[in-house]
Amino acid sequence: MPIKVLPQEVIAKIAAGEIVERPASVVKELIENSLDACATEVLVEAQGSGLKLIRVSDNGSGIPKSQINLAFERYATSKISTLDDLQRIVTLGFRGEALPSIAAVSQVEMVTKTEEDDTGTFVLVENGAIIKKETRSYRRGTSVTVRHLFRNFPARLKFLKSAATENGHIADTVYHYALAFPEVKFRLLLEGHEVLSTPGNGELQDVLSIIYSSDFVKQMIEIREKQGSLLISGFLSPPSLSRSTRSHMDFFVNRRWVHSNILTRATEEAYHGWLMSERYPIVILNLSLPPQEMDVNVHPAKAEVKFHDSHAIFTFVRHSVRRRLETVSGAKMLYIQPGSSTRYLLTSQNDMPGIHILRVIGQLANTYIIAEGVNGLFLIDQHAAHERVLFERILEQHSRQKVEIQGLLEPVCLELDSKHDQLVKAHGKLLEQFGIKLEPFGIRVYLLRAVPAMMKGTSFIETVHNLIESLESETGLERLAERIALAIACHSAVKAGDNLSFEEMIGLIRQLERTSQPQTCPHGRPTMVHLSSHELEKEFGRAG
Ligand code: ADP
Ligand code: MG
Repeated sequence: MPIKVLPQEVIAKIAAGEIVERPASVVKELIENSLDACATEVLVEAQGSGLKLIRVSDNGSGIPKSQINLAFERYATSKISTLDDLQRIVTLGFRGEALPSIAAVSQVEMVTKTEEDDTGTFVLVENGAIIKKETRSYRRGTSVTVRHLFRNFPARLKFLKSAATENGHIADTVYHYALAFPEVKFRLLLEGHEVLSTPGNGELQDVLSIIYSSDFVKQMIEIREKQGSLLISGFLSPPSLSRSTRSHMDFFVNRRWVHSNILTRATEEAYHGWLMSERYPIVILNLSLPPQEMDVNVHPAKAEVKFHDSHAIFTFVRHSVRRRLETVSGAKMLYIQPGSSTRYLLTSQNDMPGIHILRVIGQLANTYIIAEGVNGLFLIDQHAAHERVLFERILEQHSRQKVEIQGLLEPVCLELDSKHDQLVKAHGKLLEQFGIKLEPFGIRVYLLRAVPAMMKGTSFIETVHNLIESLESETGLERLAERIALAIACHSAVKAGDNLSFEEMIGLIRQLERTSQPQTCPHGRPTMVHLSSHELEKEFGRAG
């Protein structure tokens, strides 16, 4: 086929296809326009899962009569004018593509009025062209009605999911803008039913209560941390509240709802050790930064941003979230001091107990310690609890470069495969700092000369093999150190089935109380199960 320039209609549809993926994309673009017009009230209506009708009405600035035609032209915008402006975007929209794109794949009606114009204006747009324009009385603001979405674009219709799914996406979109703009009153009517109505009083927790529940909000941890020109604010779930997917991790950058690997990873790292693997927190976080420090012009639907200094953002978010979780739990935590690469430090909170003092009652199945606390009964997993104690002890010894070691009278011979050999070569120094001394003894053969003093028993070979293997997927020094500490703690802790004396149980519980995270083992599993006095009363029919 010869090369030829495509007809305008095809060009318009190709461009629209990138921006208007599904009905919720229309809702997103129209809400963004309302917010950019400084609306304080936004009403969203959808019928037929958005295919029959989508209407977004606002009380924003409106469009001047003289400029309405321009609003439907491609690359026509009131939000930027120079290349410089593109470097510092403060509005949600800026490309001037949304209205023409929507109009290319639907029929659009718009009524709008500014403060200055005496009357409002109505336009009807079909196939991207204004076919009717008349004067209408209207209050200040804009209302855009989109009908028959994708009727002239059957390829797109085929990809849409069920009505419930599309309505779900629409609701999700409105929820996110309501969360990002708590000072704006949002109302959503889906198929004629009110699904959301926010007060617009500027209180994020009020919006959260409406979207989730007030009980949920009571459990959430508010965060507001500033460093230089960076500010992170919003809500975090406590470690006791988690989900099996990342879908409840919501991020906004300068109140733009975005998908961000950097922010997701930083937050997950901050929760590391607090949550079991494959569990994810619930977060609603907004990062504010000067607009010139990022690029929002990197994604057709503006759903991603690119930070100029992503490393700084990552560190700031990870550190802020971690610090907030620590202060709330009153826990001491281990973290690497900025600037020094190997030292672990304890924060100043380390003398606060994070649980109440427990009274040991006895041992169950040689596996669980039964104890009484201020508010009921506790069953403590002796292995998990001891693991937590030893994990923190070895990391602390390592931070002071005072790991107690025991030399082995008879060195143990270890033969490694080439992958593990490489790992030992790469991390031998760190292993030695933890008391694991491996001496080269031929090709891929090592002599284990010493182990940490806390490693009791004899079966060192398997533990050291497992330890080396666990280093495989790690890179950061902090994680590597944690891996080593974990393997040492796991090997050295009392096992399920070990009979413990009363004194041993009391000793273990006292040590557990002094750890930073007494409620979870270093793998993130719970160390204890709590049955509150109230639950006991309920079980026995005593509760009123
Ligand atoms: P962009 O938002 O990128 O500028 P759009 O195609 O979404 O592009 O909108 C084009 C222009 O129409 C906007 O720049 C704005 O001036 C005007 N506009 C659109 N919607 C509204 C609205 N709800 N209130 C006021 N002005 C609007
Ligand atoms: Mg726009």
